[in-house]
Amino acid sequence: MSREDTCPPLHPETLAIRAGRETSEYREHSQSLHLTSSFTFDTAAQAAAMFMGEIEGYTYSRFTNPTVSAFQQRLAAMEGGERAIATASGMAAIQATMLTLLKAGDHVVSSQSLFGSTINLFNGILGKFNIETTYVDASDPTAWRAAVKPNTKLFFLETPSNPLTELADIAAVADIAHEAGALLVVDNCFCSPALQQPLQLGADLVVHSATKYLDGHGRVLGGAVVGNDKLIEQIYLHVRTAGPTLAAFNAWVLLSGLETLHLRMEKHSANALQLARWLEQQPSVARVFYPGLESHPQFALAQKQQRSGGAVVSFEVKGGREAAWRVVDAVQVISRTANLGDVKTTLTHPASTTHARITPEARARAGISEGLLRVAVGLEHVDDLQADLARGL
Ligand SMILES: *Cc1c(COP(=O)(O)O)cnc(C)c1O
Repeated sequence: MSREDTCPPLHPETLAIRAGRETSEYREHSQSLHLTSSFTFDTAAQAAAMFMGEIEGYTYSRFTNPTVSAFQQRLAAMEGGERAIATASGMAAIQATMLTLLKAGDHVVSSQSLFGSTINLFNGILGKFNIETTYVDASDPTAWRAAVKPNTKLFFLETPSNPLTELADIAAVADIAHEAGALLVVDNCFCSPALQQPLQLGADLVVHSATKYLDGHGRVLGGAVVGNDKLIEQIYLHVRTAGPTLAAFNAWVLLSGLETLHLRMEKHSANALQLARWLEQQPSVARVFYPGLESHPQFALAQKQQRSGGAVVSFEVKGGREAAWRVVDAVQVISRTANLGDVKTTLTHPASTTHARITPEARARAGISEGLLRVAVGLEHVDDLQADLARGL
């Protein structure tokens, strides 16, 4: 195998297509897919040296696989990190990160607005091992500082938040984490490296649900953690032992997803901005939440931190749940599903789906009203999306 040489002066769009590409002796032009659980050795001595890590080489696909390693190299280059480790899903990436870096008795500070399974992981699984999490309003830097305890080891955040698109100031939170001797982990699922590079803003690790925009077509599950060599080596050793490894086939699908990531995110954002502006004009819409709108309370931070607003637009219709459900039931083009990160636009009513299992008080505190709808804007023609939403508005 030989690896294409990609040095830093290359632009992100070029890295997304060229970085990490592995070519076999047949000099194929597309990325080859290595569906094999194990690899053979020339001699007993070579096997011994590879197992000891004295020479580099592929041994067993739970640890190393050429297709998975191409995906890792490319994503690391795109995030501006030294190294990445791929995992079976986004949740596997978060679990591997937390179990590697934390031990019983440690404390985590996290943004309160988080992907539901992440909250369940922190409370249900880490909690069982006596790792405690304090949740804070991510947009308020003083709240992060106030939550620090002597045993705080890690900060975790998502930005922009789902569904209300609140931003955390990554650089400011990174400074607070480092003052406290803690690491900052950012879930960069919503923006992807095409729009936001948390490591460049001071974060220590980026975690991904590759299932979303990195694939971009809703085909496979995958995840990854990106950071410096020292931290990723620790997480690699965990994944190698515990086994939440990315399948080679999924890595191969994700590699082609990365090739079009910049184009897709640009178009997702352009469609989302146009839709958000149109929604703001609709008399039946009370409020629109989108970081690319001048009316967003953190518009200035969004301009500084993100290359564009991203794909997710939320809006509140007048008339509560009844009016919101009317919009959901009226769509004929847009998919009624809670998923996101797809070329297909999706529409969801958070209060009765993604946020249904929390108490009405907790929902109100989180700002999830009965009239709130979330659109994950896809790549269809935006006029068709507007006409589709107009049916129920
Ligand atoms: C989907 C998602 C995850 C979990 O990813 P899976 O690939 O489904 O395990 C984590 N974080 C965010 C923000 C997500 O949207």
